[in-house]
Amino acid sequence: MVPENDTPDIPLAPGLYLVATPIGNLEDITLRALRVLRSVDRIACEDTRQTAKLLSHFGISTPTVSYHLHNEQSRSSELIETLRTGGRIAIVSDAGMPGIADPGATIATDAIAAGITVYPIPGANAALSALIASGLPSESFTFHGFLPSKEGQRRSTLEALRSRQEKATHIFYETPHRILGALEDIVATFGPLQRITLARELTKLHEEFLRGTAAELLATLSARPSVRGEMVLLIDGILTTETSEKGLSLADEVQALIKTQNLSEKDALKQVAKNRGIGKSEAYREFQRSSLRRR
Ligand code: SAM
Repeated sequence: MVPENDTPDIPLAPGLYLVATPIGNLEDITLRALRVLRSVDRIACEDTRQTAKLLSHFGISTPTVSYHLHNEQSRSSELIETLRTGGRIAIVSDAGMPGIADPGATIATDAIAAGITVYPIPGANAALSALIASGLPSESFTFHGFLPSKEGQRRSTLEALRSRQEKATHIFYETPHRILGALEDIVATFGPLQRITLARELTKLHEEFLRGTAAELLATLSARPSVRGEMVLLIDGILTTETSEKGLSLADEVQALIKTQNLSEKDALKQVAKNRGIGKSEAYREFQRSSLRRR
């Protein structure tokens, strides 16, 4: 259903329009985005030069104004004043959805507080495009933006996620100069077998999906003379261990350790809890449940 005040036949309603733009392939602009960009009074852009290329490609001559990280607060107040008097403003970032690892959230919050209508104009987004073709679970996921750039912080972030053991896939934006370090840290925290996907250059000519274990992807990228392009990194939320790969239950895993490594039941349980990144009491409860199922 199209809202009554937003059909192609009547003038665009006053309000703030958060407009998604392509993340590489210009065909990913929507018809509605083009109509909104043509009809608003002004387009506030993360980088006016970048948006000028898009607008010129589609023959749009709407005036633009800058709206970026460094003037977000002051420009937001100024734009809200225009909106209060019935203006129609579009927000665009350099690529994808405004507000997703890009400016846009501040003005949306301010506009809502000022009683101004905010319209999302959906379209391309790197995180979701990567997720749906990643081969990892997509019913539940967590978007984390960029991983910390400092190695120590990155490791502790990954360590914390590893111990959460969620069914949700973790999604990160990454950069070419940090990806090898990030993969090394995933191997060190989640282990070499962890299932991950790297989505590179989405919607562009050299789009590429690398799917496999953390160690495999690290080896593949390390062997390349250089790693380039825009990328999204996805990690399975559940720890992949050799035994979980083989579909072993927790009780089977404990029995396997007792037999192969001559461990006591208590030590084997402790080891399995560590492998799976869960607490000892949770492991004990699951051990009892899966032992019952084995009988
Ligand atoms: N607002 C954008 C969105 O909705 O996806 C994200 C902007 S964020 C500043 C830029 C990061 O998004 C890049 O460093 C990269 O991690 C990811 N990204 C953007 N375009 C991409 C593409 N075509 N392929 C893969 N990743 C992309």
